Amino acid sequence: MSDTNEDKVTPHNALELQRCPECGYSLTALPTSGNCPECGFAYEPSLFVLYGWAAGQRATVASASRGRLVWLTIVWPIVLLLAYFDGFRRLSQGRFSFGAVFLLAMLIAWVWAFIKRREAVQIHGAPSMLLLSPRGFEQRDGSTATNAGGWNKECVLIPKAKRGDRHRIQIYTRRFRWWCVDEPNVDFEATVPFMTMEAILERAREWCPVKSSRRE
Ligand SMILES: [Zn+2]
Repeated sequence: MSDTNEDKVTPHNALELQRCPECGYSLTALPTSGNCPECGFAYEPSLFVLYGWAAGQRATVASASRGRLVWLTIVWPIVLLLAYFDGFRRLSQGRFSFGAVFLLAMLIAWVWAFIKRREAVQIHGAPSMLLLSPRGFEQRDGSTATNAGGWNKECVLIPKAKRGDRHRIQIYTRRFRWWCVDEPNVDFEATVPFMTMEAILERAREWCPVKSSRRE
């Protein structure tokens, strides 16, 4: 893969928009608000963008960090291969097996996701990005899936400091209800210096409560 530099991605000033989140065009020499000259994307100073990886349930081959990719592309296929080994043997003998066909379809989906991941890394330096603005949030994963929403009264942002300068950000748009399946709307990780992260959270607090856990 050509994404050898992605682990070094550190937005040294994440609060200033450096590049167009749509096409990657450099915005540093341009006014702080306007439209990207390359693709027309409208930007303004209150929008900020973090580049990183999808985390938790949102992590896929198209958007995961390398550590998670190992699980997604090596460990899981081995588990599946063992589970469907019999099916594969039957398929190789010319007999149909639902399990093996399923696994082959999954393999094709993985290759496609890898291509999408590479596209995103080539343009933006990382497979995923998180856009935050006064209007709401948007997590884009591997130039494929997008999950966006507006701030509401039940919104909560949960930051978690991980090792090094790695930070995880989760955003939920619904209050915790024990009887509901409850996935975060945003589950994202980025390598951001501690001080930058503090500044980001300071800004985000204007739009959404920042808490250390959901039951706080
Ligand atoms: Zn653009």
